Amino acid sequence: MKKLIIGNFKMNTKPSEFKHYAMTLATKTKDTKNDVVVCPPFTHLYVAKEFLTGSKVEFGAQNINENESGAYTGEVSASMVKDLGASYVILGHSERRSKFKESDRTINKKVKTALANGLKVVLCVGENLVTRTNKEASAFVKKQLDDVLKGIYENELDSVVIAYEPIWAVGTGKVATIKDIQSMISMIRKEIENLYSAKASEKITIVYGGSVTIQNYKKIVASADGVLIGGACLNVDDFAIICRDNY
Ligand code: PEP
Repeated sequence: MKKLIIGNFKMNTKPSEFKHYAMTLATKTKDTKNDVVVCPPFTHLYVAKEFLTGSKVEFGAQNINENESGAYTGEVSASMVKDLGASYVILGHSERRSKFKESDRTINKKVKTALANGLKVVLCVGENLVTRTNKEASAFVKKQLDDVLKGIYENELDSVVIAYEPIWAVGTGKVATIKDIQSMISMIRKEIENLYSAKASEKITIVYGGSVTIQNYKKIVASADGVLIGGACLNVDDFAIICRDNY
């Protein structure tokens, strides 16, 4: 079955290093049946355009500003990354929520701006350890979904991928159990059905993210529509193996 494999570089590598990465990944994934996306820093998007266009690998940004344009020094808009050939943007990542204080309201605005500019959205949701320990993870993620999807129409969901990323699993080496991944994904599907329809719930792509590695990816990918990989995507040989596998 075809899976969606997404790599999030976070703030790693230099544009000059990314050239080699992009060329290698493009070559190693030329026969893959999966959908492959890499999201390097903004500074690398020009390189991505040059070396990934025409390959099986799509690319995206890790953030956009919620405004279309204007006096927002240092910010980057959806239309700018779209103009560079990006097809995706990651929004609601736990690092943006915690370190840059992005609220569900801001993320909701960003989702609308991204969709209006023809970008597909990888929309991250997930609970922290206290919430999970208190057995409130499902209710927490459900509320996040309700808030970030407010005002998004069902036909726009074709351009939305949900990434379930428990905060305590992102960049920590701790992975959610297969049972927890499966139960959260089915809760998310149920909530999409409540908010939209059974058809939307069936169609939506839901991936897992949080310490996926070359050692543990097989079982995880089998339990989701794909994976969002941070640290482990930086090794192009390992990432290409995950991208090329038959699921
Ligand atoms: C991420 O950055 O979205 C992520 C899941 O990171 P890691 O794979 O390093 O946990």
